[in-house]
Amino acid sequence: MKPLTRLNGSAWTKIPFAFVIESIAHIQPRYYSISSSSLSEKQTVHVTAVVENENYPNVDHNVTGVVTNLLLNIAVKQNKTDLALVQHYDLDGPRNKFSHFKLPVHIRRSTFKLPSNPATPIIMIGPGTGIAPFRGFIREKVQQKANGIEKLVGRFI
Ligand SMILES: Cc1cc2nc3c(=O)[nH]c(=O)nc-3n(C[C@H](O)[C@H](O)[C@H](O)COP(=O)(O)OP(=O)(O)OC[C@H]3O[C@@H](n4cnc5c(N)ncnc54)[C@H](O)[C@@H]3O)c2cc1C
Repeated sequence: MKPLTRLNGSAWTKIPFAFVIESIAHIQPRYYSISSSSLSEKQTVHVTAVVENENYPNVDHNVTGVVTNLLLNIAVKQNKTDLALVQHYDLDGPRNKFSHFKLPVHIRRSTFKLPSNPATPIIMIGPGTGIAPFRGFIREKVQQKANGIEKLVGRFI
């Protein structure tokens, strides 16, 4: 096997810990459809996610999704719910170093929009997108009704 070399060509006799850490690939972002409506949730954004937890033949442990299980851990901690966790994350980190850590989230402007006239009927078909964006649309329609434009809101079928 070819020895690992420094940039100047000399061989490393020991692998520096920093090299090992820097060699680990950054975690990739995960994308989620916004499942809330800015009309009803003015300060928050909801996501609706399936927590990945698969049982494969010939694999002796459940294969879990990294981010959906992290989100579930955060939800359980923040909302103090007793949902069962399959994957436990130490959210506070060693010596509580991450206790004030905030999850990095970037929001992209959506091109997926309701018709501007609330009376226009819509048919919602999920071509593999899941239910998330439609939950947002339904919340928008419910809020439009609550705001008193009931007669203008298209029928729910
Ligand atoms: C535009 C867009 C919108 C999206 N919107 C939503 C949304 O609204 N809601 C939603 O739930 N998802 C949505 N997704 C999917 C989402 O981005 C994630 O891919 C999904 O939540 C899984 O992320 P994870 O980190 O939990 O799983 P990962 O850790 O990325 O794992 C992905 C899958 O691979 C399996 N896996 C991991 N390791 C192995 C292995 N060694 N062998 C076999 N299988 C393995 C896991 O069990 C899991 O099922 C969207 C994706 C896109 C591109």
